[in-house]
Amino acid sequence: MTHIITSLCVRDRGCIEVCPVECMIPGVPVNEWPWIYIDPDTCIDCGACVPECPFAAIFPEDEVPAAYTAKGGEYISNVGLTGHYEATNHHGKQIALETTRQLAAGEVVDLTPDIKPNYDFFKGGPGYGAKDNDPGF
Ligand code: SF4
Ligand code: SF4
Repeated sequence: MTHIITSLCVRDRGCIEVCPVECMIPGVPVNEWPWIYIDPDTCIDCGACVPECPFAAIFPEDEVPAAYTAKGGEYISNVGLTGHYEATNHHGKQIALETTRQLAAGEVVDLTPDIKPNYDFFKGGPGYGAKDNDPGF
């Protein structure tokens, strides 16, 4: 199994440094790969990254919610969305995302389609090579 980062990820980067096997890679280009991605072949399921995420975006693969109920105000970020999101990340660096949507309170979202991109990123996608083009957010 592996842990999975879902579309609740807004690239805060609070998680990356705690990973003992360095398998969390920021996606690039950001509009095509908007999250941080976990290499499923390397993740040891230690769970260290989960409490580090202020947006509760990380789940063990078999616990990714098929019916996530929004508290209201949180963002999802995904290819094809058009909303603007701006913030300062864990390292004080400015983040700007153009592929977001803010959720309404009580809105129910299926996050299980977010599992596949974590695999695709490393199989046919940019994978570890993305580190060479890391925008820093
Ligand atoms: S801490 Fe959460 S929001 Fe930030 S990059 Fe990691 S998964 Fe994404
Ligand atoms: S569960 Fe552990 S090994 Fe897997 S991505 Fe998170 S910190 Fe890294």
